[in-house]
Amino acid sequence: MPVFFRSRAGRQCLSVIALGVTLWIAGATLGFSDWLAAFVTDFARYGADKLILALGIGGAMSFVYSVLRIVDLRSEMELRARAQAKADWTATHDHLTKLPNRYAFERKVLRRKPTDDDGEEWAGNVTVFCVDLDGFKKVNDLIGHNGGDALLVEVSKRICAIGNADCVYRFGGDEFLILAIGLSSAAEERFARLLIQAVTRPILINGFAVEVGASIGYDRWAEDSEQLEATAHRADLAMYEAKSRGPNHYLAFEETMRDKVATRASLEAKLRVAIQKKAIRPFYQPLIDLRTGGVCGFEALARWTDEEGVSIPPIVFIAIAEETGLITALFEDLLAQACRDALTWQDSITLSFNVSPVQMEDKLLAARILKVLSANGLPPQRLEIEITENALIQDPASAAAILDDLHEAGVQVALDDFGTGYSSLEQLARYRFDKIKIDKSFIATYRDDERQEKIVRAMFGLGRSLNIATTAEGIEEHRQLSNLIQLGCDIGQGYLFGKPMPAEETCAFVSNQTAIKVAG
Ligand code: C2E
Ligand code: MG
Ligand code: MG
Repeated sequence: MPVFFRSRAGRQCLSVIALGVTLWIAGATLGFSDWLAAFVTDFARYGADKLILALGIGGAMSFVYSVLRIVDLRSEMELRARAQAKADWTATHDHLTKLPNRYAFERKVLRRKPTDDDGEEWAGNVTVFCVDLDGFKKVNDLIGHNGGDALLVEVSKRICAIGNADCVYRFGGDEFLILAIGLSSAAEERFARLLIQAVTRPILINGFAVEVGASIGYDRWAEDSEQLEATAHRADLAMYEAKSRGPNHYLAFEETMRDKVATRASLEAKLRVAIQKKAIRPFYQPLIDLRTGGVCGFEALARWTDEEGVSIPPIVFIAIAEETGLITALFEDLLAQACRDALTWQDSITLSFNVSPVQMEDKLLAARILKVLSANGLPPQRLEIEITENALIQDPASAAAILDDLHEAGVQVALDDFGTGYSSLEQLARYRFDKIKIDKSFIATYRDDERQEKIVRAMFGLGRSLNIATTAEGIEEHRQLSNLIQLGCDIGQGYLFGKPMPAEETCAFVSNQTAIKVAG
């Protein structure tokens, strides 16, 4: 049956034709035409013939009018269908890269692709790859948003050139999702490597050759038993795990990743509450002037014991605070507490405070620090901030501006964990530091290793020739201490002198240390 007659309009047209034919037959059977002829003849003088003619013409006009309306209606419907299709496309595609978006993926239903007549087999398994660019934000800052857009377009073209363009989605920001069909486990790995190679090749934008990395996670769709979105979620978890291992890693999903994410999510929730309730407190580890044996400062180290009494290491919660943007609130709160505690010490004792690398991206950092100092009444000269080498490489220009502002206000700056980051010497040449803190890993091992000892000796020499005071971290034994004094180390820190302690114990510690100094 033609398509038209299957539509509602077609069915109505058929009914009207059928009704017309029935009436015609009935009229013919009942002699209606003879009756009409007699009626026209009898009433001709009253204009019956003209009336019949008018009715005929009226009917014909109505028919023409209906046809015209139908034509109009059809073109209106076509317009609406086109607008609908456009709206549909807009809702399901990304305007920049023209790739389908997350919504299109949510609507996607994979159909069976039978390879034989009975249609029982799949054409192949489906693997979902989740790709997130590494370092995109930095590139965006460097070449501007238009440049960033051009980069995303190029990356999407490169990804499409590997896979099937129909199956590449942009999930917003710098995240892409790819459906690949029929890959074996080995081919999945190869595919992930190919993706990384494609994305990491330099891209020329406005005369700049820019490079980004890619973190990739993937997993297979469990065909009938689940929605594609569940697979995409697992691929996403694998991608996050890959990202945590540094740029350009790929990983297949493993069940343990789910547990890790759940633990992390609950820790993040607890951290938010802890920061709100000010449950994280600074402890203080003494810094000893090795020439006099007296306390010359305390380093504030964050301590958090959760409601179940479990102590969570700062390395763990500081990393979460950095990732979630909670670091600024945590930092300001801890610094304020530490300033108040420092006011209970003698004026000669400085407060050392760690600043995390993420904070160096905050152009207002110097202003924030100075505001907390003035709100709590601690002179800037009594504060020393500790930054690691990695904090300086992200955005050297902004780091230099922050350090200059702090120096100008009188705050001292120490280079923490010296020797563990990269480009240590470059940092020393570029910035002005008041102190370098040699990392505890050197102090723990240098006496067993001749080469290591030479390096540590050279570090102290470097400090002397640049006229920068040196601190040795992690001093645990007397033998280490006497060696470090011989090497000309200025300040010592470590369990040998004292572990990080609560504020209430610091004043007693200073008095005891003074007593030891006097007795010695
Ligand atoms: P860091 O700034 O290098 O601090 C020194 C770390 O070495 C501290 O670990 C301290 O407890 C430990 N330590 C000191 N003496 C010894 C010793 O003799 N032997 C050994 N084995 N370890 C010693 P902690 O408190 O676990 O802190 C670890 C890191 O977490 C710190 O390294 C710092 O980078 C970061 N951190 C701690 N508190 C804060 C904070 O309030 N803000 C920021 N941004 N980072 C913090
Ligand atoms: Mg430190
Ligand atoms: Mg350190």
